[in-house]
Amino acid sequence: MFENFTVNSYTPMIQQYLGIKSEHPNDILFYRMGDFYEVFFDDAKRTSELLGITLTARGKVNGHPIPMAGIPYHAAEAYLAKLVRLGISVAICEQVGDPATSKGPVERKVARVLTPGTITDEALLDNRNDSLLVSVACKSSSFGIASLDMSSGLFKVIEVNGTQNLANELQRISPAELLVQDTLVDEMNLSSAVIRPLPPFDFDIDNGRRILHQQFDTRDLSGFGCNNLSLALGAAGCLIRYAKQKLRNNLDHITAIQQEDSSQNVYLDAASRANLELDENLSGGREKTVLHLLDHCATNMASRLLRRWLIQPLQHLSTLQARQASITEIKYTNIDDKLHKFLKQIGDLERIVSRVGLRSARPRDLARLRSAVSVLPNLEGILKERTNYALADFAQKLKPLPDVLSLLENALTIEPPMVLRDGGVIANGYDTQLDELRRFNTGANDFLIALEEREKKRLDINNLKVGYNRIHGYFIEVSRGQSGKVPADYTRRQTLKNAERYITSELKSFEDKALNAKSRALHLEKQLYEQLLTLLNKSLPALKECAAAAAELDVLSTLARRARTLNYCKPELILSSGIDIKDGRHPVVETALKMPFIANDLILDTEQQMQIVTGPNMGGKSTYMRQTALIVLLAQIGSYVPAKSARIGLVDRIYTRIGSSDDLAGGRSTFMVEMSETANILNNATDRSLVLMDEVGRGTSTFDGLAIAWSSAYELAKKIKALTLFATHYFELTELPNLLTNVVNVHLDATEFKDDLIFLHSVQEGPASKSYGLQVAKLAGIPPAVLNRASSFLSKMEISASGTKVSRPENDRNSQQSDKIEDGPSTAILTRLNEINPDHLSPKQALEIIYELQNLL
Ligand code: ADP
Repeated sequence: MFENFTVNSYTPMIQQYLGIKSEHPNDILFYRMGDFYEVFFDDAKRTSELLGITLTARGKVNGHPIPMAGIPYHAAEAYLAKLVRLGISVAICEQVGDPATSKGPVERKVARVLTPGTITDEALLDNRNDSLLVSVACKSSSFGIASLDMSSGLFKVIEVNGTQNLANELQRISPAELLVQDTLVDEMNLSSAVIRPLPPFDFDIDNGRRILHQQFDTRDLSGFGCNNLSLALGAAGCLIRYAKQKLRNNLDHITAIQQEDSSQNVYLDAASRANLELDENLSGGREKTVLHLLDHCATNMASRLLRRWLIQPLQHLSTLQARQASITEIKYTNIDDKLHKFLKQIGDLERIVSRVGLRSARPRDLARLRSAVSVLPNLEGILKERTNYALADFAQKLKPLPDVLSLLENALTIEPPMVLRDGGVIANGYDTQLDELRRFNTGANDFLIALEEREKKRLDINNLKVGYNRIHGYFIEVSRGQSGKVPADYTRRQTLKNAERYITSELKSFEDKALNAKSRALHLEKQLYEQLLTLLNKSLPALKECAAAAAELDVLSTLARRARTLNYCKPELILSSGIDIKDGRHPVVETALKMPFIANDLILDTEQQMQIVTGPNMGGKSTYMRQTALIVLLAQIGSYVPAKSARIGLVDRIYTRIGSSDDLAGGRSTFMVEMSETANILNNATDRSLVLMDEVGRGTSTFDGLAIAWSSAYELAKKIKALTLFATHYFELTELPNLLTNVVNVHLDATEFKDDLIFLHSVQEGPASKSYGLQVAKLAGIPPAVLNRASSFLSKMEISASGTKVSRPENDRNSQQSDKIEDGPSTAILTRLNEINPDHLSPKQALEIIYELQNLL
């Protein structure tokens, strides 16, 4: 609405504002005016709506008021946090000139732009979650991904092929802000991230390489093992350039780049990660998740690391064994309590160190850094006594840093204030000039007292007093009644109701010196603080190493504590295929139950690669399957596991096809979701994968579902030979062991006692004999009338089905769909299914069989 006016219609200040705003068309511009940040025009309307602050106006242009909204500078953080959480970028424009000497508006500059992926301020960050800036470069169907955790300086790259793998990686990394080529935007289906489309040349590989050389001050990237990469370097370069531009900073704390080796990771797709409720339950909360159960970490940096471990298990045997060894040592020597106590004092060192690197650390950050560094000797002491090589390694990395400690002890006051603005941060004795200025300020008091005493006597005015206020400065106050005694060298400064205030030339020259000393002291303190940050930056690599080691030690110590409290065992990790668990438990369910948890054994190996799991609803099938995946997963982060003993052949992938829900946002039905997840498994699982299939085929009609379930199970067992738990209500699948020697039946049992159904939750050999559908329905509160009707309907069906060769369990009452149990079709279908030997059956062929089977109906 203001575009029509010429720039000259605006005041010089608004002209300055518009000039700066034109460089930040997509950011909200916070324009510093004294103690306020002001926003104008459309930014003002938007901000007032988003933050619920008052929209006012400042001046007019050609009769139109200029919309304005403002927030006090001191309270800005809470408002900024809200905007950034909404995915909005905010450009912070500060006054950089001196208002006293400026002609026209004081000079202003954008100090930095806050975006969701580049924030490092404590108040704006989530303590427990990483806030990652991610960049994706692409060429046909290959992708390079770079991710940066600005608050820790952790910078990683990975290259993947295919959109499915890209989507999966992005789900795992869970970016807060995503830089992508504008041509790719439509393919980015990520609700969590703010997406920034950029032109393809921003991702140029050669340019990326150059930017990285500059960042790390190297001539090639072989030291980081990244020379062989291409697209990922384009993505990484783009990311660094973007971050530098936003933060207006050299990012000195980013000193290395790590290539993620996907061959060492366990592939865990987004659906499986969600199904296993690792860090988020199915309702989106934190409770009743594995992370919630295990995360008793002393520091937030360790909580974030534990989460990263959980969502990215490893296949790297020696890394896992080293973690196990550390946990074992900590657990058996009972040093976890002591470690916990000192690690608590280490605090969120990772983020503090990054803020030191970015030179945005506040005085309190440095106080916390001092406290962290002060406990390093204690940690080293505990670790040095240990013989274990893994802990000895920690002792190396957590070496005391006496120089840093004495620097901080000498430079900082005991309890520095939150902000540097009012001083009081640099300790006495650190800098002689500062001490002198401060002495002058303290000496000032004595001078004022002496002056007051002297003047009282000289003028014989008892109630004469010397005072100070911010507006008028120093004064000598005399009551109205005594003002006649005031000599000629007193100049009146202010008249009050009952008193007069004066200044003398002596007091005036004192005032000039005092104010000058105060502002010089403050200025000097700011300089000393900057110098302190520079000095600390020299120890940045050591501090970073220390933070990383402390975070890892905290996770290991926490896993040791939890292993003891929750009675976990150390799994034996082997390279050959096979899983053997004795008395396995579900880590989360067992802690939520009031009743004792029934532990179960499990064996999957080359002889027995698939278990067909049957049993009534509520029998414990899902729990049994999930606990298997969780035990394997925990073993592959190096943790102890909820079992009496476990032998785990490292798996390359964990797939879980459990539960089905509509993907409303993606416009896919339950069945479609189920089928694409199943297709993904059938196309990618290997003989080293662990696959959990629960109720595959449930989303469609009985016979389609049965055919697909049968065919998928056959493919997994016969061709892929993945270690598979296949839970099903299609009893026909229990025939598979007759066809394939590597398939066995197991079931979860229940028993009827009087009128009640009791679930035994123990896994038994063989197929289930009953499915107790009606009893479960009764437990769920289905009204008796409905149950009776269902029961008599079932009896009729059983009578009509008797005499056929239907190989259903005796009294199977589980038909959830309108299953036709008639003589001809059912038998014919089973006979046909048994005839099919789908050695090379693809999902497409399975569908053809469905049509054939449908013709038999
Ligand atoms: P299903 O998948 O067969 O329908 P679930 O695995 O969902 O059954 O288990 C249903 C409930 O039974 C669980 O929520 C849990 O309370 C209980 N349960 C399952 N397994 C066990 C077990 N091994 N020990 C004790 N309770 C169990």
